[in-house]
Amino acid sequence: MTPTFYRGRFAPTPSGALHFGSLIAALGSCLDARAHAGEWHLRIEDVDPPRVVPGSADSILRTLEAFGFEWDGPVVYQSRRAEAYRAALERLIDADRVYGCDCTRKVLKARGRVGVDGPVYPGTCRARGLALSGALRLGLADTRVVFDDLLAGRVACDVARECGDFVLLRADGVYSYQHAVTVDDAELGVSHIVRGADLLASTPRQIVLQQALGYPTPRYLHLPVALNADGGKLSKQTLAAPLRDAEPLPALLGAAAFLGFDLARDADTLSAFWQLATQRWQREKLPPLRGKRFG
Ligand code: GLU
Repeated sequence: MTPTFYRGRFAPTPSGALHFGSLIAALGSCLDARAHAGEWHLRIEDVDPPRVVPGSADSILRTLEAFGFEWDGPVVYQSRRAEAYRAALERLIDADRVYGCDCTRKVLKARGRVGVDGPVYPGTCRARGLALSGALRLGLADTRVVFDDLLAGRVACDVARECGDFVLLRADGVYSYQHAVTVDDAELGVSHIVRGADLLASTPRQIVLQQALGYPTPRYLHLPVALNADGGKLSKQTLAAPLRDAEPLPALLGAAAFLGFDLARDADTLSAFWQLATQRWQREKLPPLRGKRFG
């Protein structure tokens, strides 16, 4: 049997230090790649300047190193990739898929029905023929996306109904997460995207964009997300405690246990952890994620 080509990635937003929630995505994506003899790349998602906390990209890289992560190739920074995002956008403009929009966030919130990920864009500016100078949106035809997540199973979403025409370039000149991540993953040749299930609602939009740009669709595995004591997602916004670079092993063991395999008795050093974790990683052991239908 020929092994499948595997290129994975971890793509943290430098909006704070790495915490337990992001460690789960880092570890899961890395182990799934290594267990399939694949590559694992690192991308710093600093496309959105207001979200970037100075120094956190370096602190994330330091923590990953201290924890024994090894990545392939150079680290990609989204802040240096505007030209690639522009080129992809131009292709969509040439294909007549893009229109300008001057709706304010307030208007959208007041008018938009709420879909899987916030207000659904009601198409207000679609036929107005505005200049392509403010926010730019992708015009969607009737678009039902179906994909098989390696953990959640079949996921279906009517993107036009659940999200509406979504933004590619914001009015402040910042490329949207959906646009940047789709272009980056395709240009890097990512074959498998392993990330937190909090991003499951974004995946159908990224698949729509892949189709519009003629990119292949990678395989997806959305991992369960760690919750804090109140049942909320553990994130930098909820100020989850940063990981301590001097004490990688307890956090790695905790993350491995969360992902379904307990190495606490067998791995007493960092190198033993990595060796055993790569051997024992099994998608089948992951805690279940229920399949989702989005509309
Ligand atoms: N930058 C995103 C985050 O930190 C992850 C994006 C992705 O994996 O697609 O939540």
